[in-house]
Amino acid sequence: MPRTEFARKTKQQALTRSGHRCEATGTRYGFEEGQRCNCSLSLGVQFDHDVPDQLGGDNGLENCRAICVQCHKHKTRNDIQQIRKSDRQRDKASGVIRPTGKIKSQGFAKTEKAAKRSAKPSLPPRLLYKPTEETQR
Ligand SMILES: [Zn+2]
Repeated sequence: MPRTEFARKTKQQALTRSGHRCEATGTRYGFEEGQRCNCSLSLGVQFDHDVPDQLGGDNGLENCRAICVQCHKHKTRNDIQQIRKSDRQRDKASGVIRPTGKIKSQGFAKTEKAAKRSAKPSLPPRLLYKPTEETQR
């Protein structure tokens, strides 16, 4: 997948705007909402697409963030998850992925593999419920 790059001028403008302090802000970078990293960029600056280009972000100054290496790592991990999610949603909408559980088997017994696959949760369980071990004690 081709990743577009910011123009050199855009990067310079973003760096100037940042005041040479990391511009990463908010939960996407692992901070509290509204909290800015603000660490010095003298040890290395990276230019991040606020909205990833794969998700429709452009290469304009508004979409360019001058951030530190640590924040960039964090954001990139998040972006990849978001891009995968958006890919899945697009594929589902276009019919590339068929909804699971609708394909009728011809009466074969479920293989171990198939059983494993159907047992796999489609969402991480952490948001759905909280373990109540404490109340069972
Ligand atoms: Zn940072």
